[in-house]
Amino acid sequence: MKLYNIKENDEQVSFGQAVRQGLGRNQGLFFPSELPKFDDIDALLAEDFVPRSAKILSALIGDELPAEKVYELVNNAFQFPAPIKQVKDGVYALELFHGPTLAFKDFGGRFMAQSLAAVSDGGKITILTATSGDTGAAVAHAFYGMENINVVILYPKGKISPLQEKLFCTLGKNIHTVAVNADFDACQTLVKHAFDDAELREQVGLNSANSINISRLMAQICYYFEAAAQMSKAERENLVISVPSGNFGNLTAGLLAKALGLPVKRFIAATNANDTVPRYLQTGKWDPKPTVATTSNAMDVSQPNNWPRIEELCKVQGWGLETLGKGAVVEDAQAAESVRDLNELGYLCEPHGSIAYRVLEEQRQADETGLFLCTAHPAKFKEVVDDILGSDIELPAPLAKHAAMDLLSLNFDNDFAKLRELLIKVQQA
Ligand SMILES: *Cc1c(COP(=O)(O)O)cnc(C)c1O
Repeated sequence: MKLYNIKENDEQVSFGQAVRQGLGRNQGLFFPSELPKFDDIDALLAEDFVPRSAKILSALIGDELPAEKVYELVNNAFQFPAPIKQVKDGVYALELFHGPTLAFKDFGGRFMAQSLAAVSDGGKITILTATSGDTGAAVAHAFYGMENINVVILYPKGKISPLQEKLFCTLGKNIHTVAVNADFDACQTLVKHAFDDAELREQVGLNSANSINISRLMAQICYYFEAAAQMSKAERENLVISVPSGNFGNLTAGLLAKALGLPVKRFIAATNANDTVPRYLQTGKWDPKPTVATTSNAMDVSQPNNWPRIEELCKVQGWGLETLGKGAVVEDAQAAESVRDLNELGYLCEPHGSIAYRVLEEQRQADETGLFLCTAHPAKFKEVVDDILGSDIELPAPLAKHAAMDLLSLNFDNDFAKLRELLIKVQQA
């Protein structure tokens, strides 16, 4: 597999390099030089999730990794299903929250962890990341128990939900969590500081495992095929997919699935009040505003970092921006209303998914099959959902299990020297 840097096209890397480096020069994102195309989609869709996903990813990765190796990575990563549920005539929810941290980020996080282990030179790696909640959990669970890889996660003490904290700060082994007496931005600054320290970076094999890594997107392509595979041929050939978007990784993966041959009529970019993209699709002007806090906080992003990949893909495929539908914005009150609407249809959903549902219902034509992505388990946003529905929803098993365990986090002040010391200690252990 060859990839190029979107900003500096002469920088070309292999899959392994792209996974290890994350970003290219000048903060440029990597993009595949060639996309395979599957001609017999029906045959591909007839296969089971894991073998089909291995086939798709192997076609992308090419001869850099043997097909059996790719199968093994996929099999280790995708140990939970991605079912569709019919919520009404012609409308399906794609449930991406059956993994260990109950959000779609488990697919990308776990495949990335597997890929990184597969392409590393055997030296020790230290994953360092700052989290305001969800990403940290997905990364921690994805790398848990892996040999030669340590994970250090910083988070702002007292500023993430107690349940979120329990989910990733109770693991132990190679997962080290630190509650920093500061806010999220300070945690991010500490991480940047570490990456700027060339000696430290080298000594501990620092890697960020962040969300722009191409391996994550590649994994996410697979569940779009899995959704279509669960529909009848007639249904999937008139398919419109609504994606609740923040950094636009999920939508990028959907568009890549289309480029590989999945018949999708169009996508809908649904956002909350952080509406940079819908405004852009309407006006042609890229004009980010300050980020605002909403009840769908995993989508509180005003400068989506995957957008350049979407533009690049549309360019190389010759697609107009209408492939992205009109885009649409859903405010908190409307998202809540749609949570109630879905509940009346007998489907429990949290606000990220309900935003996608709402826009789908606004834009879908009667003869089209609609699919909306449910990116998190409703219990992950229990406070919001209970508040909207007046309910007391149950914690699913993985959350309940961690909720009962002891926190193992270290605690320190916003002090780089402390972090440096910890990284070296962890590496030497
Ligand atoms: C990360 C996240 C999103 C946004 O996905 P992007 O790929 O960043 O657009 C939506 N919903 C949930 C629950 C998330 O965790």
